[in-house]
Amino acid sequence: MNSYYRTTKSVAYLTIFLGILLSELLAQTPKSLGSGVKPVQTMVNTAMHDTCLNKTFSIVFYFIKDTGTIVNATFMNAARTAVLNKLNNAFSRICVKFQACSTVVIPNSLWNTWSHSQLANVAINSYSTANTINLFLPMDLVAPLAGESSAYTYTIPPLSSNQFTDVVVIDVDALTDGYVEHVFGHFFGLPHTNAEIDTISPVSPLPPANTPSINSREWVKRGPGSNCYTHGDGFCDTEADPFPAGTGIGRSPSIEGCGPVYGLKDGNGDYYFPPVDNFMSAYTKCRCRFTQEQYNYMARFILTRKLYLH
Ligand SMILES: [Zn+2]
Repeated sequence: MNSYYRTTKSVAYLTIFLGILLSELLAQTPKSLGSGVKPVQTMVNTAMHDTCLNKTFSIVFYFIKDTGTIVNATFMNAARTAVLNKLNNAFSRICVKFQACSTVVIPNSLWNTWSHSQLANVAINSYSTANTINLFLPMDLVAPLAGESSAYTYTIPPLSSNQFTDVVVIDVDALTDGYVEHVFGHFFGLPHTNAEIDTISPVSPLPPANTPSINSREWVKRGPGSNCYTHGDGFCDTEADPFPAGTGIGRSPSIEGCGPVYGLKDGNGDYYFPPVDNFMSAYTKCRCRFTQEQYNYMARFILTRKLYLH
């Protein structure tokens, strides 16, 4: 990298950091946003436009040798290309790029039946590379972390710690249906659209009792009197999501396509219309996008916590 480019890049990051600092100072005075409530989720800015980070992440790909000949050069090249294309498409809006750093083939074929509790620690101790994203692609992910299927990453450490485990595991059969973008959304700090970021503060009215239960306390309504910045996933441009309520055999959007959640209302009596197209939802057949506020959140997360990655 020549000195001109390095200087230009440094100035760009400095400008963004000063912007964050200014927004932190301004944040001490309550601002009037769409709903009149200050966001809890910290975003790089609250303006509805993208921030260009000009950051490239390197991925070390780990495949596992199989007992046959499936895991060969053609197979690995196709998987690498699929992952990189999906990530580069999804993150281009904030000028974040991904590139292959190197590829490792792990010789122990038993690891193709991947159980997080049994394998993750030994795999990381044996194979991970510091300061890069370590992507393991077993042929069968039988037991991911709780709450996930087909792909997972590690929980985010608290702000007082930067002890990240920069590992992502994806079942190599799950390079479709938004799993790659979903798990990298988690990697950059995003919750599920059906999450609840504040289970302590009271909400009235609560969602109706349901089986399966509705975890998110976010109301459907937006604008004055809404609670979308303080409950649910903390974003107002992702619709309130009652998942797994409203789904089930014969009427699940995740099985049947991009349909609605049938007839389910929140505590105010408003019909849920969940974000079935969002990468961070559980409606796997329809996932194709992040929202502006999710991008703004990830941009800040990368700038404040992930710039050490090559
Ligand atoms: Zn998830």
